[in-house]
Amino acid sequence: MASAKVTNLPTANQDSFWQDRRVAYFSMEIAVAPEIPTYSGGLGVLAGDTLRSAADTGLPLVAVTLLHRRGYFRQHLSPDGVQTEQDAPWEPEKLLEPLSPAEAITIQGRPVMVRAWRKDIVGVDGHVVPVIFLDTDLAPNDPWDRTLTDHLYGGDTFYRLCQETVLGLGGMRILNALGCAPDVYHMNEGHAALLTLALLEEQVGDRELAQATEEDREQVCERCVFTTHTPVPAGHDRFSLDQAQHILGAERTSALQRFGCCPEGMLNMTYVALRFSRYVNGVAMQHGRVSQEMFPNSTIHAITNGVHAATWLQPAMQRLLDERVPEWRRDNLYLRFAIGIAPEEIHARHMEGKRKLIATVAERTGLKLQEDCFTLCFARRAATYKRADLLFTDRGRLARIAEEFGGLQIVYAGKAHPHDEAGKAMIRSVFDAAAALNSSLLRIVYLENYEWELGAILTAGADLWLNTPRLPYEASGTSGMKAAMNGVPSLSTLDGWWIEGWIEGATGWAITEGETEADEANSLYEKLEREILPLYYRDPRRWAEIMRMSLAINGSFFNTHRMLYQYVTNAYFPGAGRSLPRREVELQMSR
Ligand SMILES: *Cc1c(COP(=O)(O)O)cnc(C)c1O
Repeated sequence: MASAKVTNLPTANQDSFWQDRRVAYFSMEIAVAPEIPTYSGGLGVLAGDTLRSAADTGLPLVAVTLLHRRGYFRQHLSPDGVQTEQDAPWEPEKLLEPLSPAEAITIQGRPVMVRAWRKDIVGVDGHVVPVIFLDTDLAPNDPWDRTLTDHLYGGDTFYRLCQETVLGLGGMRILNALGCAPDVYHMNEGHAALLTLALLEEQVGDRELAQATEEDREQVCERCVFTTHTPVPAGHDRFSLDQAQHILGAERTSALQRFGCCPEGMLNMTYVALRFSRYVNGVAMQHGRVSQEMFPNSTIHAITNGVHAATWLQPAMQRLLDERVPEWRRDNLYLRFAIGIAPEEIHARHMEGKRKLIATVAERTGLKLQEDCFTLCFARRAATYKRADLLFTDRGRLARIAEEFGGLQIVYAGKAHPHDEAGKAMIRSVFDAAAALNSSLLRIVYLENYEWELGAILTAGADLWLNTPRLPYEASGTSGMKAAMNGVPSLSTLDGWWIEGWIEGATGWAITEGETEADEANSLYEKLEREILPLYYRDPRRWAEIMRMSLAINGSFFNTHRMLYQYVTNAYFPGAGRSLPRREVELQMSR
């Protein structure tokens, strides 16, 4: 069986816009807009925020993802907290622009046609970052192949490997057909790693893939950058060699084997990406170190994640910043100047966000929360390592805390992956605790269907952002960054980004690591009773100063503008400053 090779054939679609794209960013999920449900959580939101910052800062970048016609899923929760899921179909025809090339790739030895759709992300000055959505729902394709771009993280490993083949090989063919020849290919997580196979085929040209040399591999490496997002081995995509041979063919599979991509007899997408990239990074300093230990044969750097400020700052805070530091939109580092704004003003803007949260809870559940009552939020994917139920380890103690301080409100949200029974059980246990504890002084509510817009309301309206991941499972976490930017401090275990963002009593508080889960719960309660609630209820001025510190210190750093500068200077174009064209003028030295 001959495998179709990717070549650089010029086509009618070639134009200078596409030729000018210097970086191609590949991601299985991208949160492009709230009405486009092609993301599941942190990874997709990060990808979207990265592209929004690329648009704001004028980076010539093109992004590639899958169309996911049926979206991720809509979450329904029964009164007992039993999660059921529903497809989230959307209409690409209404929201995207069709692109003309359709290209064939080979999956399971048969041709699968891939076409593309386009959506532009437009930056503050009008710079455009196009996002290409790949689609296999085309009439000539066999009915099963037509479903390959339907469900994000749906189906089994066979379906997943087919999807990753569409993303990597299909994405490369479409870019070529458009006339894109970027200098750099950035793989956002291992799902996109098969793009390196297309580069390798391009590199070997007319030779057989079996004759690819170490030098060919190095040539591919020169063009690739890889970001890993998962701190535990089980989180990395792996496929049996049987499946790989079946889907990719024997020739490609044996090439991947030969280049060390199949440890323990499995095709491992992280290894594919590692073996074919010249720069690899984790997404926070600690995650870089953990990844380095996991992959001792590669050099792993770290670039800490961020969030896009103009996407996540609530409107009232944006207006305040527009008055005081209008440059923040073009360059998020200016948020540092929020330190020059009176704490009372920040507090007043926060109250607008909090009222919006209270209104949202009332609208969705009928429950009326109080404006002057301390409100803690926990919203994230319901994965067991995040321990949504740690707060309920000692229910009696939580109830006493609420009584002692005269009120405590807790808002939850989060989806469990449809196959994650343990995650679903955790949601039920939060419902169970809420039912047992709810009183006039302690109100606990779980909101359905956590997604972009709800995330924005929660991160802006909470008084405290709670995060309780088991160490070291949280690669970075970004919701706490959204909160910080809105002046909301965090209480969290010291994992992921919080190791870097945490200044005790200034930007938030740490839950200290304990021998047991109960120890960590104890630390959580102690911070609430001894530090956080006394400060909130008895020293509002000092509380407002903490809000201001969160915004000025953490908001100005944990944003995707800073993150992207780091990708550009460390990963995409290292030493770019040195390669600026020389100026043929003699500079006069001033004495
Ligand atoms: C920001 C965001 C996430 C990621 O936040 P974590 O801190 O990693 O949990 C997930 N889902 C949504 C909807 C978000 O907005």
